[in-house]
This record gives sequence, C-alpha cells and structure tokens, in this order.
Amino acid sequence: MIKFLDLQKINLQHQAEIEAQLLGVFRSGWYLLGEKLKNFENNLSSYIGSSHAIGVANGLDALRLILRAYIEMGLMSEGDEVIVPSNTYIASILAISDNGLVPVLVEPDIDSYNIDVSKIEEKISSKTKAILIVHLYGRIIFSDQLQKIAKENNLKIIEDNAQAIGAIWNNKKSGNLGDAAGFSFYPGKNLGALGDAGAVTTNDDQLAATIRALANYGSNQKYVNIYKGLNSRLDEIQAAILDVKLKYIDSENKKRIEIAKRYVSEIKNPKIILPEIPENENEHVWHLFVIRTENRNELQDYLAEKNIQTLIHYPIPPHQQKAYKEWNNLSFPISEKIHNEVLSLPISPVLEEEEIQAVIEALNNF
Ligand SMILES: *Cc1c(COP(=O)(O)O)cnc(C)c1O
Repeated sequence: MIKFLDLQKINLQHQAEIEAQLLGVFRSGWYLLGEKLKNFENNLSSYIGSSHAIGVANGLDALRLILRAYIEMGLMSEGDEVIVPSNTYIASILAISDNGLVPVLVEPDIDSYNIDVSKIEEKISSKTKAILIVHLYGRIIFSDQLQKIAKENNLKIIEDNAQAIGAIWNNKKSGNLGDAAGFSFYPGKNLGALGDAGAVTTNDDQLAATIRALANYGSNQKYVNIYKGLNSRLDEIQAAILDVKLKYIDSENKKRIEIAKRYVSEIKNPKIILPEIPENENEHVWHLFVIRTENRNELQDYLAEKNIQTLIHYPIPPHQQKAYKEWNNLSFPISEKIHNEVLSLPISPVLEEEEIQAVIEALNNF
C-alpha cells in the first residue's frame, strides 16, 4: 500500500532527537510558555526573516488572531471586508467570519489554483481592509501587481502560510511577504507537530504585541487584562518537536520538489492535467501534488485498486458548504470545476523510489 502521507515514517526519521525532547520537557516540570517556545519562536523568525514569531494553538487561531488584533488596533471593524480565494481550505474563511468581518470570495486562476490577482480590484469596496492570500498546495501567490493593488487601496496583505513554509519569492520566504502571516503545524503539514500547533509571523511590533496579549487572555502582564482575549498557546512539547523538525524543513521540501518534477516529467496521460512547476522552482514546496481529470472519482477508484492512496483537496467549495448557506446560490465556476476535478497524489519526503515509479506507472496506464 502506498500511503498518501506516512506520518509515522516522516517522524521516525528524527526519532532520537524527538524522543530526547519529549523526555526533556516531561522531566523539566515546565509545560507552557517556557524556553522551548522561546527557542522555537526565535528560530522560526530567523528562518522566515521576520522580526516576530508568536507560537499559537493552531493555524486557524493564527489567522483569527491576526484579524482580531487589527480590530483591537482600530484598523478594522465589524462588517469590514476581507478578500480571500474562493477555493481555499475553509479555515481561511472561518478566520474572517469568526471576527465579524465579511469574506469576499475571488475566483482562482485555473493553472496555478491560486487567487486570480486580475480579479481582485473589481471586488474592492470602501469597506475592504485586507487581502488574505493563501499559498495553496504550497505554491506562493505574490507579485508586484498584488502589492500595488494593496498599496493603492490601503489594504493589509495577510498570508495564509499553512501550506507553504519554506517557499521563496524574490529571495523572501513565504510568511515574510505581506503584513502578517498565519502558519499551521497540523501533523500533516510540511512542518508538522504531533498534535495541533500554529504561529504568526510579522514585522509589525504593535501587531505582534497585540497578538501575544490576545492569545494569553488579553493580558500582557499577569492578572491585568487589556483585551477580552482567548487562550491560544503553543505548548512546550510541540514547540520542542517543531524546533527539531525545523532544521530539516529545507531538505524535506527539496525532496518534495524532486518528486514533483519526476511526476511532471514522467506522467504522460492526455486524460490528466498536471500542475505547473513555477519558473522559479523554490516558489512551490509541494505540500500537495494536485492533478485534475474529468474522471476524478473513476481515477481515484482505479488508484485505490492499485493500492495507491489519494485524497481530494477539497471536495466541496466553501460557497456550497452548509456553514455558509448565504452563499449557496452563488456561482464560482472555476472553483466548482476545481473541486469536481482535483485529486492529490502521494508526495512526501519519505516516498520511496519504487513508490514514485508505481504511482507514475499507474497513472500512465489509466
Ligand atoms: C491547515 C490549514 C489551516 C488551518 O490550520 P489548523 O492548524 O488545522 O487550524 C488554514 N489554512 C490552510 C490553507 C490550511 O491548509
């Protein structure tokens, strides 16, 4: 069986180091807001190139906290609009609506699966305050044009960097391109914890201080509460494990890029649309390798028969979810096409040569 993602194998690569950290935290008697978190935050901000990194409980909280902090700072208020791609994972959108802000969906580009920057301006109103870009599947979406639109309209650029840690645009890492970025370290992400974890990076001192307080009951000094905050912390065990794994993220992403290149050059089947490799290959860290075909369900069944596990990212577009019933009669044809046709192939730093070959052969024989 070729697993879609063998998490056990991924983490066993670092068994000795991870077990030493687990035992170290266990024996230390200190489990929250300690040295492990501080070290990881320092190492993450140096890696990203940002002046701040704040560990939080998960990726959704990272995004929620960024928007909540802008509200507390008086830069956004209830009913303001945030532009977001219509084919993103639901969490990007939940972070917006959870804050009483209004998500404004913009269709993706069918070739990159990322937000179509040429369709952003027509969606900007006097209430628009930010563009939440999502580096979907691990591919950076950023450009001078996007920056120009944000600047001209006085919009914040917030990055949902849950899927693209380590990707580079113009010598800058994803997570250091806009005004603030949310990271997820959900176990299946390129940098995954052994449970829930997330972070925010930014170069904005005031935003960083506001998020730190908000994530700690709205307090920046024990028992003094300046905001009606929440509890969203990254615990010592997860921080220690992430600090170990952060050292390997570049080499692991490199393996993903190599596999993606193999798939793109060796899968030859007119029924299958392969993803693009960006001109600058470091702009994509291949969290997911997503192909498209009109016979998606048939292909998934066929691959399952050949013992190849695949997943769909994502089967239902956000505007057709029951959670957003106010959007259910809207039409986003490109998103709908993507959601009907995509299939994600196995890709990971521990995928073996024979497994890569078996995936390629199976797809060529479909
Ligand atoms: C995983 C993910 C999130 C949410 O992260 P959690 O840690 O699961 O809360 C947000 N946005 C995108 C694009 C994701 O892939």
